[in-house]
Amino acid sequence: MLLFTGSLIITSCGTEETNPLLTEWVTPFETPPFDKIKNAHFLPAFKEAMKEQNLEIDAIINNPDAATFENTIVALDHSGSLLKRVDRVFSAIRGAMTNEEVRNISKEVSPMFSKHDDDITLNADLFKRVKQVYDVKESLGLNTEQNKLSDHHYKNFIRGGANLDNDDQGEFRKINEELSLLSLQFGENVLKETNKFELIIDNEDDLEGLPENSITAAAETANEKRYNNKWVFTIQKPSMLPFLRYSKKRGFREKIYRAYFMKGDNNDDLDNKKILSRIAMLRLKRARLLGYKTYAHYALEERMAENPENVYDLLNKLWAPALNRAKEERKEMQQIIIAEGNDFKLEPWDWWYYAEKLKKAKYDIDEDEITPYFQVENVIDGVFGLAARLWGITFEERNDISKYHPDVKVFEVKEADGTHIGILYTDYFPRASKRAGAWMNSLQKQFKKDGKMIYPIIYNVGNFTKPTVDTPALLSLDNVETLFHEFGHALHGLLSNCTYESLSGTDTPRDFVEFPSQVMENWAKHPDVLITYAKHYKTGEVIPAELIEKIQNASLFNQGFKTVEYLAASMLDMDWYTITDTIEYDAILFENKSMEKIGSMREIIPRYRSTYFNHIFSGGYSSGYYSYIWAEVLDADAFNAFVETGDVLNKELAARYRKYILSSGGTDDSMELYKKFRGKDPDIKPLLKRRGLN
Ligand SMILES: [Zn+2]
Repeated sequence: MLLFTGSLIITSCGTEETNPLLTEWVTPFETPPFDKIKNAHFLPAFKEAMKEQNLEIDAIINNPDAATFENTIVALDHSGSLLKRVDRVFSAIRGAMTNEEVRNISKEVSPMFSKHDDDITLNADLFKRVKQVYDVKESLGLNTEQNKLSDHHYKNFIRGGANLDNDDQGEFRKINEELSLLSLQFGENVLKETNKFELIIDNEDDLEGLPENSITAAAETANEKRYNNKWVFTIQKPSMLPFLRYSKKRGFREKIYRAYFMKGDNNDDLDNKKILSRIAMLRLKRARLLGYKTYAHYALEERMAENPENVYDLLNKLWAPALNRAKEERKEMQQIIIAEGNDFKLEPWDWWYYAEKLKKAKYDIDEDEITPYFQVENVIDGVFGLAARLWGITFEERNDISKYHPDVKVFEVKEADGTHIGILYTDYFPRASKRAGAWMNSLQKQFKKDGKMIYPIIYNVGNFTKPTVDTPALLSLDNVETLFHEFGHALHGLLSNCTYESLSGTDTPRDFVEFPSQVMENWAKHPDVLITYAKHYKTGEVIPAELIEKIQNASLFNQGFKTVEYLAASMLDMDWYTITDTIEYDAILFENKSMEKIGSMREIIPRYRSTYFNHIFSGGYSSGYYSYIWAEVLDADAFNAFVETGDVLNKELAARYRKYILSSGGTDDSMELYKKFRGKDPDIKPLLKRRGLN
């Protein structure tokens, strides 16, 4: 139950004001009143909300009635709603509007949170009641979803240390607390490293080869940083990638890329080497306490992959053909270098530059030719239009809903008949207060409470090319795919139709959750969809058929590099989390050995090196980075189902996809859900074909 206690905080001038995080939100669709929420509200709100959940837990334990599914499992699922609310708003701000104050709150809250969670999972009286229900669940006549929910909470206790003796529980708590702080520190260091580096150019000649919009953006960045008549490039991807692709200044390319791949590895106060080794070691220690061989065994138990062997199997199956392709690509690029009269060997900072030339030579296509067709507003129309065609849903911009930044847009999502579905926030451009990458998350998850629908409130964040004074935001094809990808996660949250919050929306196994997002990338590039949104930003001309053909022909281009870069990072992740010695490894030696073992190429640096691998040391993807390719088996096969019908916008199939995948959350076994949609097991062949690895 939500208790609106209306807690008071004292402002600096001594007047009392109500904490908006703790009061009822009388806003459209109960969206967060971002205009009223100040950073100072978070800490007292967290404390109050934790207290409240503790009271709710006490009420479950002290219930004089025998434990039942409703009074224990469901009550537990409903507990902490105020805390979830505060935490979700805070997460949104921490990801996209961070500053020193937010980081300090994070540091203070993180160990509090870890203790609070442990207090619940290590609460013997609560576990006793949960176990009482779990032990007799077969006789309770539960449906599939209810069964899943009982399993979910019971396993949460087991995996959270409920069966450990007192000493081990103490150790377990200590590890969790330290891990929470280390992960936070790791992520902060990466963000600071990303913001720190500037490549300042003061001689116009040094801009040779760069596209106009990239130069304009660099001039604007220089202005923001108060450098007169200069250009500043950063290691944020929208700034760095065009530079790597087009700059004719090899030395500068090296400088910017080196700054990128040396993040967290500079032996200074932002160095992450010791932090990450300790994280890996502590995770192993914790897994050992629970009786698992490695951390990966612990993490994978709850995923589709089930164990590390299955993950390595898939990665190895793809590795050799990917490496072969990448070596061919390297050879072709080296030939260009020689043909141009140079004699140096291709280096990692050369790859993008020569890949771009190769693309031009082989497919007569360059990014510059494509981006004018991908103005961000048109891409958004494209993705909304696609959802309308497939499921009849609509998106209406709302200007009466409070935002945390002017770049944010808010939409109401509705069924074809006008029924409310949920709210979507989009926030697409980089700024120093935002971490790198793109993500989706919820401010409110969909579920049902006492028969009443709780509607989802979802957001998408990205770091796409910004508009400049004279051009709108023109996205690269990669950006377009990412936008569709995150929108797929958003749909998974928005179209959820589940009863229980813990199993709704994107709360599915980690290696399943990338499937609904990745499948959208297939539509993004399909000709039948491209013609609906890819329009020239100046003339409005629809993307010509020959350019679409070129894009399609080029789809196998650089796949060796992309696959190797990705697989290398996935292997690195798995290697860190299958260690069996509880020691702190030398991070660089470990990484080098891991790459040597698979015979990686020195010209291709893993997509993330250990020292800035946020996914696995600061996010939720530890021994989970493989999930993208695991899910790609599913997305390639699922899209193939559409292709097989002869209509990629097949409404009937889309309805089945919505029912079993987008609406079902984690209410059933992921593979079962997939098979219900597809009518058979997934096939790996469409993936191999798509990446040219067959
Ligand atoms: Zn994703």
